[in-house]
Amino acid sequence: MLDLEDEDIFISDISIEGTRKTLTIETHPTIHHCPVCGFRMHSRGIKTRTINHPILSDGFEVVIKLKQRRWKCTSPQCSYEVNEAFHFVNKGRRNTNTTDMLIVNAFRDLEITASAVARKFFVSDTYVLDVFDRNVKIDRLPLSDIISVDEVHLELDDLITHYFQCGNPIFIDFADLLIRYHDYIINSFVMVEKHGPGKIYNSRLSNGPIESLNRKIKDLKRLGRGYRNFEHFRNRFLFATRDNPVLNGISEHNPGKW
Ligand SMILES: [Zn+2]
Repeated sequence: MLDLEDEDIFISDISIEGTRKTLTIETHPTIHHCPVCGFRMHSRGIKTRTINHPILSDGFEVVIKLKQRRWKCTSPQCSYEVNEAFHFVNKGRRNTNTTDMLIVNAFRDLEITASAVARKFFVSDTYVLDVFDRNVKIDRLPLSDIISVDEVHLELDDLITHYFQCGNPIFIDFADLLIRYHDYIINSFVMVEKHGPGKIYNSRLSNGPIESLNRKIKDLKRLGRGYRNFEHFRNRFLFATRDNPVLNGISEHNPGKW
């Protein structure tokens, strides 16, 4: 029902209060053995954590009351203690991992503001920004090789010299024209590799695509009322405009207590 990653949990209570649906989730008490010494462990009680999980949404703000057991080793020499761990939520977090992934995914839309995402998932603006920054860090790519236009250069220069030396005023004028537009002519011969739908082809440079991209960047800037953190801005933009943006392989650092 909840589509959570853990199998041994069950819902022991559901209550609805206004637009909030509260699910109580717990585990069956099973025999635990100490991971350090192998002795039996006994339960030291249950702590209730409140966790947001806005997946079942349909108008409800879903909140999970997670009953988490604490286990202690019965060996007096060891007395190792551990909290029950769950896959669907990391230690010390107040939102399920699925929520975080949905938040990150919401940023695929360039036109959505952080505060709109926050509202959608019943969390704070700071939280969605933190989730985004934690998950999205797009590495810088090495610059591509300089495009070689030497050949065009040489041929055009030859042509200009040729026209100049021919003595005919019409061709000398034309040589002037070629000199005036020299750089533009060269640039028009620059070919780039383009990756279109299902094929790779060569195409002349056009400022069309870059202008469209520039516009998106400016729109994003205006929408966010400016960005103070350039890295965040850059990640935000690349994440939303790339076909398959890569997420960080974050493994959460879980200190032993919380
Ligand atoms: Zn032990």
